Formats: sequence, C-alpha cells, structure tokens
Amino acid sequence: MSIILNGAAVDSLGRAMIRACSRTACSVEAVATLTFVYADSMAVLGPLALRPEPHSYDLCAKHAERTSPPKGWQLVRHSLYGEVGFTA
Ligand SMILES: [Zn+2]
Repeated sequence: MSIILNGAAVDSLGRAMIRACSRTACSVEAVATLTFVYADSMAVLGPLALRPEPHSYDLCAKHAERTSPPKGWQLVRHSLYGEVGFTA
C-alpha cells in the first residue's frame, strides 16, 4: 500500500519511493526539481531534491527540458548530470 504525501509517494513505513513528474497527466519518473524563489523572481532547475520542498515541483527529463519560467522570471539551470570537469 502506498500513499501520496506532499507530492511524494511513500510506502506505509514512510519511506520515499520513486517520485513521479508533477505535470498533469505525466507519470514519468522525476529527475529534476524546479524551485521557485519568489523573493528573486527566479526559477531554479536542478537535480531532484532529496525531499519535496514547498514551492518546488519534481519534473521528468522531458518536462525539465521544456520548462520555461513565468513571464518576468529568470530561469537558472543547474546541471542535472553532475558538473563538467576541466581537462588538463
Ligand atoms: Zn513529465
């Protein structure tokens, strides 16, 4: 048995299971989290957060790629797949 708590699927012991994309009609596994920083009118797209936060939305790869900020907002993308290192 599983329940939905704050957008995250957890089992009966409260352990987090795979989180799904928060977009309507999309149930693909989320790989990124979009967080709205209202104070700065900034939307930050980064790796999936460890736990759901207020004002944040989990997105699958497709929706993370396609997401765009509301009018007047800035979108900041962090690498979803780790930092690219420098080569010597
Ligand atoms: Zn999606």
